Amino acid sequence: MGQGKTPRFIVDSMLGRLARWLRILGFDTWYFRDIDDPELLKIHQETGRVLLTRDTRLVQCRGIGCHVLVHSDGWRDQLQEVFTALSLDLERDAMLTRCALCNLPLEDLGPDEAYGRIPDHVAASTSVFRECRSCRKVYWAGTHRKGMEEVVSMLLAEREDGRERS
Ligand SMILES: [Zn+2]
Repeated sequence: MGQGKTPRFIVDSMLGRLARWLRILGFDTWYFRDIDDPELLKIHQETGRVLLTRDTRLVQCRGIGCHVLVHSDGWRDQLQEVFTALSLDLERDAMLTRCALCNLPLEDLGPDEAYGRIPDHVAASTSVFRECRSCRKVYWAGTHRKGMEEVVSMLLAEREDGRERS
């Protein structure tokens, strides 16, 4: 956030794609497909994780802490809402350091260990790999690249607009 503290998130079950993209961008993001409101609220309160939800009733609960009530339907717009609401910065160093599926930090993986688990054209052109020790998914610089460039330019463009308006 503005003060340089990177928030950690807990995301409600309706916001799965948003959760995935927050992880790809490097944010520590908890997401549970089947979780009821009281449980979600409890985790939010006990961990101090910022709650991202579409549920207007939930944010009216007593004792609610830092949260963003997300209005948009599409995940790109949702991402934008969260960045704007919390004045988040894009941390390029943090991108692709976390598994999009498990949220675990990725570990370095030697090329020898990666070969056979990645497409041949990647093996021929890339030698830096990371893997998730939980789901064993292998990541490299090209993973999510197209979506990533789109998301990054969208978020940066919005930031510029914001400056011009203010
Ligand atoms: Zn994983």
